Amino acid sequence: MSGSSSRRQAIKAVMSYEKEPAGFTEPMGDTFGRNVFGLSEMRKRLPKHVFKAVAATIDSGASMDPQIADYVAVAMKDWAVEKGATHYAHVFYPLTGFTAEKHDSFLEPENDGSSLAEFAGKTLLQGEPDASSFPNGGLRVTFEARGYTGWDVTSPAYILENPNGNTLCIPTIFISWTGEALDKKTPLLRSQQAMSKQAMRLLELFGHDDVDTVVSYAGAEQEYFLVDEHFYYARPDLMTCNRTLFGAPPSKGQEFDDHYFGAIPDRVLAFMIELDRELFKLGIPSKTRHNEVAPGQFEIAPVFERSVLAHDHQQLMMTTMKKVAEKYGMKCLLHEKPFAGVNGSGKHVNFSLGNANQGNLLNPGDTPHKNMQFLTFCGAIIRSVHKYGGLLRAAVASASNDHRLGANEAPPAIISIFLGDQLMDVFDQIAKGGATDSKSAGVIELGVDTLPPLKADPGDRNRTSPFAFTGNRFEYRAPGSNQSISDPMVAINTILADSLDFISTELEGLLAEGATLAEAVQKVLQGIVTTHGNVIFNGDGYSDAWQEEAASRGLKNLRTTVDAVVEYTSPEVVEVFERYGVLSARELKAREDVIFEYYALTLLVEAKETVEVATTMLLPAAIRFQGELAATAASLKAAGVHTKTPLLTEVSEKIIELDDAIKALTAAIDKMHGKNEYEESRYALEKLIPKMTAVREKADALEPIVADDLWPLPTYIEMLNIL
Ligand code: ADP
Ligand code: MG
Repeated sequence: MSGSSSRRQAIKAVMSYEKEPAGFTEPMGDTFGRNVFGLSEMRKRLPKHVFKAVAATIDSGASMDPQIADYVAVAMKDWAVEKGATHYAHVFYPLTGFTAEKHDSFLEPENDGSSLAEFAGKTLLQGEPDASSFPNGGLRVTFEARGYTGWDVTSPAYILENPNGNTLCIPTIFISWTGEALDKKTPLLRSQQAMSKQAMRLLELFGHDDVDTVVSYAGAEQEYFLVDEHFYYARPDLMTCNRTLFGAPPSKGQEFDDHYFGAIPDRVLAFMIELDRELFKLGIPSKTRHNEVAPGQFEIAPVFERSVLAHDHQQLMMTTMKKVAEKYGMKCLLHEKPFAGVNGSGKHVNFSLGNANQGNLLNPGDTPHKNMQFLTFCGAIIRSVHKYGGLLRAAVASASNDHRLGANEAPPAIISIFLGDQLMDVFDQIAKGGATDSKSAGVIELGVDTLPPLKADPGDRNRTSPFAFTGNRFEYRAPGSNQSISDPMVAINTILADSLDFISTELEGLLAEGATLAEAVQKVLQGIVTTHGNVIFNGDGYSDAWQEEAASRGLKNLRTTVDAVVEYTSPEVVEVFERYGVLSARELKAREDVIFEYYALTLLVEAKETVEVATTMLLPAAIRFQGELAATAASLKAAGVHTKTPLLTEVSEKIIELDDAIKALTAAIDKMHGKNEYEESRYALEKLIPKMTAVREKADALEPIVADDLWPLPTYIEMLNIL
C-alpha cells in the first residue's frame, strides 16, 4: 500500500467516524470525588484522634506520626477493596516530568496455599520500586540503584478504574537511599514549607498571630490539540516526536480568529463531557472548557487548589485527557508546538498565597491596612521575579517549549512582570514617596491611605507578559502545555521564601528602630521598587522594541533551553535553594543534567525521524511525481508536441536540494558525540536544529507542487480541521 493511499484511507475513515456517545444519566454532582479517599471518607472510617491528626497534617502542615499510618492503611485498603481494587500502586513523579506507578497485588500467598489481603502501615508509608532506569542525573550509581517512594499524606489516594479491575493509587515522593530527591514532588513539598514559614513571619508583623500555615495555590490552564487517530497513525513524526516535523503552512490557518471560543464540535464536546466526568470522579475540579485560538486547539482549566495537590491533579489530568481522547478515536497532543506556524500550547499557571484565616493574600484589600499587606506581598513577588528571572526561565525550559518561548511566538523568553495601570500607579507613588524622604509625607504617599479600592479584576489583561497580575493572582504564562507545574511552583515558592524573609527582616529592623508599620513598609517597598522596578513592564512583550529595552534594563533574554538551564546551578540560585532546604547543589546539578540529557535526546530523535520520514516517504513521493512528469514529457515529445517542462525542472531541482539537506543532517547526526550532556545539547542546538529546519524547508517546498494524490502525509489543513 502506498503512503498516499494510506493518507486517503485515513481521511475516509475520519469522515465516516461514528461513535455512540456514552449518554451519562448520573448527575454530575454525585460523581465528584467518588474515587477519592479524601477527608470525608477518612472522617467516616478513621478513629477520631487519627482523623484529627491526618487532617492537621493536610490542612496546616503539622508533622505526621508514622503510627497513624497503620490505621489509615487498614481503612484505605477496605475502602479500595469495596471499590473493586485488587492492586495498589505507589504513584510518583520522576524527573521525566511524567507519572510513574508500580502496581502490587493486595494478595500475598500464605504457606497453606490460601491468600490474604495484605496492606499494612509500612506498605503505605514506603515502597521500593526498582527504579534504576529513572533519570537521576548521577545521584544514584547503578550498584546502589535503590530508590524509595514515601507516602504523601497531603495528596489523597484514589482509585484508577479499568474495565478489568481497579487499582488503589497512592501519591508518593521518590527519593534515593541517601534521601536525595529523585522526583518533582519532594522539592515542591519542601518549597511550600519554606515559603509558608517566611510568609507567616510577615503576617505576624501585620498583627496576625493566629496563622499556622500559608499555602501557595495554583490553577493551571491547560491548552491542547486533538487530532483524529487515523491522521496520527499516518504521521510517523507525530507518533515518534509528538509534533509534526513536516507540513507546509495551510492557506487558511488561524488568520480569521474564527475558532477561539467558537462552537465546540460535537465529538470534541462529547470527549470534554466524559473527561470532566472522569476528572470529577478523581476529585479534580475541572471548571472551564473552550476552543482555543488555533483550529483543533482547546483548553481546560480546573479550579485552583493547594499547589501540591494541583500538581498531582495536573499530572493525573494529562493522563486522563489522553485516555479519554482515545475512547473517541482522537489523540490528545500536549506538545507545546505540534504544528509549526500554528499557535502553540501553554499551561498558564495562576498562583496566589493564602490560607483559611486570611483568605487570598494577593487580593487587594478595601482598607488601607489590608492594602498595605497586599502591596507587601506584591513587593515580594516583584523582587523575586527580578532577582531570579533566570531561574523562572530555566524552570520552563525544554526542547519543546523553546518553540514557544522567544522563538516563534510569545510569551517572550524575557521574564518581566505586568502589574496593570492601577497597581503600577500605586507602586509609582511608593517610589516617589521615598524621594521626599519625609516621614509624614512618607505615610501619605505610601499610597495606601489614599488608595482607591482596587478592582479585583482589572479589565486590561496583558496577554503578552510572561508574568502578569490578573486582579487577585499572578499568572505565569511561560510554562509549556506538556510540563509538570512542579518546577514553576518550586521556583516561585523558593524565591518568595527569599523575598518574604528579606522583607520581614527589613521590617523587623525598622520597627525596632521605632518606625511605624506604615513607615517601615513604605521604606522597604520603596527600596524594592527602586532596585527591582526594572522588571515591571506593562507594554507589548511581543514587540522587537521590548527586546532592546529589556537588554538596556539588564533583563536576561535566555532564548534557548541550553542558555537557560545553567541558571539552575548559578551561585545565587544554589545559595537560595540550599538556604531554604529545597534542593542541594548536588540535587540541582542532577536536575540540570537530566534536562540537558532529555534535550539532547529529544533533538536527536527528532533529527533521526526527520531523516527517516524525508527519505522513506517524502523523497519517494517527489520522485514518483518526477517520474510521472518525465513520462508525460517523453510521450509528448514522442507525439511531436514540443513544450517546455518547467514543473519537471522545478521538482527535479527541489528533489536534489532535499536530498542534499538530508545528507547534511545525516552527517551531523553521525558526529553527535559530546563529552557530556551540556555539550551534546549545545551541539544539538547549533548543529542539528538548523539542518533539521533545512530538510523541513526543502520538503515543505515540495508539498504544494507534488500531486496531492501522491503526497503521503496528512496535511495541516486535514489534521487541524477534520474532527
Ligand atoms: P483566563 O481568563 O485567564 O483564561 P481561566 O478561567 O481560564 O482564566 O483560568 C483561570 C485559572 O486561574 C483557573 O484555574 C482558576 O481556578 C485560577 N485561579 C483563579 N483564582 C485564583 C487564585 N486566587 N489563585 C490561584 N489560581 C486562581
Ligand atoms: Mg483561559
